[in-house]
Amino acid sequence: MALISINLQDGSVIKDQDVIIGIDLGTTNSLVAYMQGGQPVCVKGPDGKNTLVPSVVHFPDDGTVLVGDAAKDRLITDPANTIYSVKRLMGKSYKDVENIQAFFGYRILDDDTEALVKIRVKNRYYTPVELSTQILRELKRRIEEELHTPVSKAVITVPAYFNDNQRQATRDAGKLAGLDVLRIVNEPTAAALAYGIGLDPTLPEIIAVYDLGGGTFDISLLHIHDGVFEVLATNGDTFLGGDDIDRAVVDFFCSQLNLDTEILAEDKSLGQELRLLAESAKKALSGAEHFDGRAMGKPVRITRAGLEALMHPLVQRTLDCCRNALQDAGISPEQVGKVVLVGGSTRIPLVRQKVAGFFGKPLFDSLNPDEVVALGAAIQADILAGNQKNLLLLDITPLSLGIETIGGLMDTIIPRNSKVPNKAGRQYTTSVDGQKNLKIAVYQGERDLVENNRKLGEFILRGIPPMPAGLPKIDIQFIINADGILTVRARELRSGLEQEIDIRPTYGISEEDMAQMLLDSIAHAQEDMQQRGVLEARNEANNLLKAGEKFLQQNDTLLSPEELQTTRALLNALQEAAQSADKDHIHRAIENLNDFTAPLAHRAMEQTIRTAIRGKKVSS
Ligand code: ADP
Ligand code: MG
Repeated sequence: MALISINLQDGSVIKDQDVIIGIDLGTTNSLVAYMQGGQPVCVKGPDGKNTLVPSVVHFPDDGTVLVGDAAKDRLITDPANTIYSVKRLMGKSYKDVENIQAFFGYRILDDDTEALVKIRVKNRYYTPVELSTQILRELKRRIEEELHTPVSKAVITVPAYFNDNQRQATRDAGKLAGLDVLRIVNEPTAAALAYGIGLDPTLPEIIAVYDLGGGTFDISLLHIHDGVFEVLATNGDTFLGGDDIDRAVVDFFCSQLNLDTEILAEDKSLGQELRLLAESAKKALSGAEHFDGRAMGKPVRITRAGLEALMHPLVQRTLDCCRNALQDAGISPEQVGKVVLVGGSTRIPLVRQKVAGFFGKPLFDSLNPDEVVALGAAIQADILAGNQKNLLLLDITPLSLGIETIGGLMDTIIPRNSKVPNKAGRQYTTSVDGQKNLKIAVYQGERDLVENNRKLGEFILRGIPPMPAGLPKIDIQFIINADGILTVRARELRSGLEQEIDIRPTYGISEEDMAQMLLDSIAHAQEDMQQRGVLEARNEANNLLKAGEKFLQQNDTLLSPEELQTTRALLNALQEAAQSADKDHIHRAIENLNDFTAPLAHRAMEQTIRTAIRGKKVSS
C-alpha cells in the first residue's frame, strides 16, 4: 500500500571528467586518496614521502594558519594556539565534553553548556567544524597540486558510531572547505572496500574491523549483504591508542634516567624530546628486537619484550571491547568471516598476534593500516563516479525525513545519511479525547520546525474509533526502496485501521537547494532550539490545562472553595503564560500549578482508593 511515493534522488549529474576524492579525516592523522589507473593511491606531501597529514591546526601570531606537520611541531611549544584531536569535539556540546576537558591543551569555551562547543584561540572563537575545514582545505590543496586541476567532489569517512550531529558537522566542514560532499562513509566500511570485501553482492558475510589509531580504539562488526554494509555493533575506547603506549614508554625511559616524571610537566621541551623518542622506539620495535637511543646525553634502551610487557594491559582492554561488541551483536568469534586491521598501531606485532588469536583467523593486513580507510574512500568515490559500472551503488538519504507533530515540530523518522533501502517507524497517539482523524504530514529537512523544512505531502488517517486521548496506537512506517522511493504507511494498531490515500509525488531537490537548507539549519540552530523549547513548553502547558479542567470537574466536592479558587487562578495564569514566547515563564506557571495541585491530586487518589475498598467490602 503506497500512500506517498516520492523520488528522493535529486538527479544531479556527475560529469565523466570529475575526480571524486576520498578523505580520511582522522583524530590523529588525515589523508586524501584518489583512483589512479584503476587503483586507489594516497597523495604524498611535498617531501614526496609522507601520505599522513597530522590533524593539527596552529595559529601563529602573524594571523596565518598552519596545518599538518608544521602545526604538529608547535604542539608542545605553543599548546594554547595549537589545536589537535578536534574530531573528538565534532557535533558535541560543552556538556558532552566537560569531563574530558583536561585532556586538551587548548581552551574549550564553557559559557553556555547547552550550545555546541567552541575553541578559543587568542581572541577568536572557532567551532570544531571550522577547524576541521582547515584540515580539509589542506588536503584539497594537496591533491589539487598533485593533479594540477581543481577538485570539488569528495567522500569523507567517519567512525561508525558517529551520530547524526557528528556526521552533519563533518559534512558541513566539507562544504566550508569548498567540497561537495557526495557521501559520508563509515570508516570500517571504507576499510572493507579497500580489501575488496563486499564488492560481490552474492557473498553475504560478517566481518570485524579492528581500528587502533593514535588516540582511539574502535571495533566494528559489519554484516555485508547485497551491497549494504550494515553495522551490527560498535564498541571501543575513545581514550586508548598509540599515544598511551608512548606515555608508558616515556615513563619507562624516565625510570632508566632516574628522572621524576613530574619534571616533564615543567620542562616542556624535554617532555617533547622524550615523547618523540618513545614514539620512534615503539615504531622501531614493530620491526626490530631492541632499541637504543640517547636522551639528556645518556643512553636509553628498550627491548620488544619490554615494550610488550608495558602494553599488554592496553591490548587486553581492546580485546574486552571486542568481546562486548560480539555480545551486543549476539554472535560468536567463529561467525566472523574476516578480520580487517586499521590504524597505525596495528603494525605492532603483539597487537596482531592477540587479535588473530582472539578471532581465531588470519588477518587482512596487507595494505598500509594508516592508509586503508582513505583508500577505501577513494574506491567508494569511484563507484559514485560511475566508473565501476558492475558495482551496486549504495545510496543514502540526502536529508532527514519525518512528520509534523504537535506544535509544528519536525519529528525525524529516517535521519539524513541513512542507507537506502531503509525502513523505520514510530508509534504516535492522539492528543484529544475521541479524536477520529489524524493528519500525517511528511517533511524533508534538518530544521526543528516543519515550516522551515520542505513539505513532501500529507494525508489523513480517518475513522479512528473514539478513544480517550493517548490510547490509540498509530504506527507510522517510512519505507525507502532501493530506488530511493519513499512509501509512508499509517496504521491504528488497536482497531487495525489502515487508510489508503494517494498523494501526487513531488519532485526531487537540487544540490543547491539542499546546500541552502543545510546552511540554514546551521545558521538557525540556536534560534530553532529556542523555538523548540517554547513550543514544547506550550504543549506541556496545554496538556496540563486539559488535565486540570478534568480534575476540577471530577473533584469539585472534594476541594474547599479556597482550593478551587486558587486552582482556577493558577490555571488562568498558566493559560496566559502559554500565549507568551518565554519558555521560562511558561515553566514557572507549570511549576506553580503543579506545586499547588500535587497534594490535592494525592488526596483525590486516596479518596478513590477508599471508595474502591469500601465498594469491595459491600459486595463481598
Ligand atoms: P588516527 O586514526 O587516530 O588518526 P592513525 O591510524 O594514523 O591514527 O595511527 C597513528 C598511531 O599509529 C600513532 O600512535 C603512531 O605512533 C602509531 N604508529 C604508526 N606507525 C607505527 C609502527 N610502525 N609501530 C607502532 N605504532 C605505529
Ligand atoms: Mg583512523
